[in-house]
Amino acid sequence: VPVIGVLALQGDVREHLIALAAADAVARPVRRPEELADVDALVIPGGESTTISKLAVLFGLMEPLRERLGAGMPVYGTCAGLIMLADKILDPRSGQETFGGIDMIVRRNAFGRQNESFEAAVDVKGVDGDPVEGVFIRAPWVESVGAEVEVLAEHDGHIVAVRQGNALATSFHPELTGDHRVHGLFVDMVRAGG
Ligand code: GLN
Repeated sequence: VPVIGVLALQGDVREHLIALAAADAVARPVRRPEELADVDALVIPGGESTTISKLAVLFGLMEPLRERLGAGMPVYGTCAGLIMLADKILDPRSGQETFGGIDMIVRRNAFGRQNESFEAAVDVKGVDGDPVEGVFIRAPWVESVGAEVEVLAEHDGHIVAVRQGNALATSFHPELTGDHRVHGLFVDMVRAGG
């Protein structure tokens, strides 16, 4: 059974721990480099990407995490987590860095004020059955992707789910819905890659 960490600096950590356990993984919070070294894979939760970025530096996780990602550790980021996996942010706040790992340019808070939070049915490649209920909360979208990136879902003509190798990312929050199919997809990736 794969052991999957949830980066527990800020954001909806608990919901991911529950979703991963429901998808048949062993899940635990990761806050320190020693804890990161002990997991097979990592989830980066939704929350606030600038805060996650600053806390990652403070907790000494920025470089160890970049190293693990560079070595191919499977990773899944939701919303702020998707932003953290982008090689480039279109409109970074000052001091905001990302871990990188996916060759994409991301636009933060992209869906605009009227649409700060909404739900929409999203067809995700690799997830069988009904569309996923996409919960979008001040969500980013993916402005553009490099050749190695597979687009898994779009909403309103904008990219909202991607995969590059062992890295998966969604603009929306499957951890908030009780539907664990996207986490299941990630656990399968971890099983296949680990
Ligand atoms: N807008 C947030 C950010 O820029 C992301 C919101 C979320 O994770 N729900 O980090």
